[in-house]
Amino acid sequence: AQAPVDEKDPTAVALGYVADTTKADAKKYPKHENAQQCNNCTLWQSKPTDALGNCPLFAGKQVTAKGWCSAWAKKA
Ligand code: SF4
Repeated sequence: AQAPVDEKDPTAVALGYVADTTKADAKKYPKHENAQQCNNCTLWQSKPTDALGNCPLFAGKQVTAKGWCSAWAKKA
């Protein structure tokens, strides 16, 4: 299995990625809401029920279902 994204990875830091959406930096990202998470993001590539999934912004690694980053966009 692919490794989970480390929050300290440069890409993660640049995008404000956190494994737990409730830990997102509210000051830096005022539009963040806790209901926003990777498994309801349009870029989530895996099943809604998967705990870890793929995101094209993090090739070769996996993001958490309850994660978040500043590129979050509502799934249509
Ligand atoms: Fe999660 Fe979406 Fe950010 Fe990818 S783009 S890390 S799926 S919030």
